Amino acid sequence: MSQIKDIVNRQREYFYSGETAGISFRLNALKTLDKTIRAHEQEIFEALKKDLNKAPFETYMTEIGIILDEIRYMSKNIKSWCRNRKVKTPLSHFKSTSYIISEPYGVVLVMSPWNYPFQLTIAPLLGAIAGGNCVILKPSEYSVHTSRLLSRIIGESFDERHITVLEGGTEVNRQLLQESFDYIFFTGSASVGRIVMEAAAKQLIPVTLELGGKSPCIVDRDAKVDIAARRIIWGKCLNSGQTCVAPDYLYVHREVKKELIEAMKRYITEFYGEDPCNNGEYPRIINERHFNRLRTLMDRGTILAGGNVNTGTLQISPTIIDHVTWEDPVMQEEIFGPVLPVLEYDSISEVTAEINRHPKPLALYLFTKNRPVEEEVLRNVSFGGGCVNDTIIHLASSHLPFGGAGASGIGGYHGKWSFDTFTRQKSILKKSTLFDIKLRYAPYGNKLKLL
Ligand code: NAD
Repeated sequence: MSQIKDIVNRQREYFYSGETAGISFRLNALKTLDKTIRAHEQEIFEALKKDLNKAPFETYMTEIGIILDEIRYMSKNIKSWCRNRKVKTPLSHFKSTSYIISEPYGVVLVMSPWNYPFQLTIAPLLGAIAGGNCVILKPSEYSVHTSRLLSRIIGESFDERHITVLEGGTEVNRQLLQESFDYIFFTGSASVGRIVMEAAAKQLIPVTLELGGKSPCIVDRDAKVDIAARRIIWGKCLNSGQTCVAPDYLYVHREVKKELIEAMKRYITEFYGEDPCNNGEYPRIINERHFNRLRTLMDRGTILAGGNVNTGTLQISPTIIDHVTWEDPVMQEEIFGPVLPVLEYDSISEVTAEINRHPKPLALYLFTKNRPVEEEVLRNVSFGGGCVNDTIIHLASSHLPFGGAGASGIGGYHGKWSFDTFTRQKSILKKSTLFDIKLRYAPYGNKLKLL
């Protein structure tokens, strides 16, 4: 028996022992995870420095802090989430009571990408634990230091029948997708998302797909331009643009374009200095393949800021590109790097119509003080989630579901939605045996008249 099959079988056996479904078991597991993360914080910083040159502050803000907040929130609420939910019963079923049980799926698979390799592995894990499941985690082979660390610290803190990390390349993913999991939670690209969904369909395994896409950022004539510039540069340069919800491209009203670009240039220098490619706090591109891909995206259009690269460190300076069209490669794929193409517009309806001609974005950001413009965009464009007058931060809230729309994803999580994702609703109608109304039983004769 292969190692993977063996571990899935052992987890399934453990799941059926009922242990992982106990509320105190789930709470203890969350507590253990919290302790483990705090105890290894320094090593997490080091792994992310090696994988992506992330500064400890950025790692804490985007990989660790978010998780500790979620653990706190879940631990506080898990008891009430697990309670059976009483609901009404139609009079025709007299005399009965009805309720809904949130039952764990069983053995679940979580596959995660390399860009936030800690957060995007642990955040789904929290939901899986809170839901009472056993979990196999498969982090990305590209963020090798974080994956190795995850494997070690999870291995030291948890029974492998409850939670296991499997390292390795695509071959391991392929083997995993042959197994009969009870749920698959995948974060990554749309192309691999299709592979995952196809494999899951063969065994009718339910899935959540957290994918990517091109997330627009719109700056309207009525925006506070300076604050927009600062928040856009922050969101675009976080992890050097390798963020699923990074503002992918900019749509700016013609009247404020010049002012916005000047302000963005100023903030690039303020945040990362004159030479970001030699800044020790500025993240690098994950590997040469992506580095070279991003370089070619800068070939078309007019570079207004940046455009420099450091082939030794794989850093690319924050780059603003003007005079691009939807036909240019930079507008044809998710950029996933610190390159920001700029398009201009005169009327907001042009913008919504153009966005709607493309696949539904994972995120959308709108900078405006104009209520009708805000309403028009939010009403007319379908997208996963986003912000008005900020970027990225909608995902750092346990009170908002996070997920895509259309090609940017299926399902959602965070907070209570993570619990809901990793449990299924089992409906129970409990009938009294004190008496039995015979109307429904054959022979029917002329009972129709009685209805
Ligand atoms: P990816 O799809 O290449 O890889 C994701 C995972 O799938 C990894 O664990 C990888 O090992 C595995 N994988 C790769 N090829 C596979 C194959 N042929 N068969 C089976 N498994 C395979 O994605 P990535 O490059 O790691 O991440 C970037 C993408 O992820 C971007 O599109 C980004 O927008 C998206 N993303 C989405 C979110 C979100 O929350 N929606 C978060 C981060 C990244």
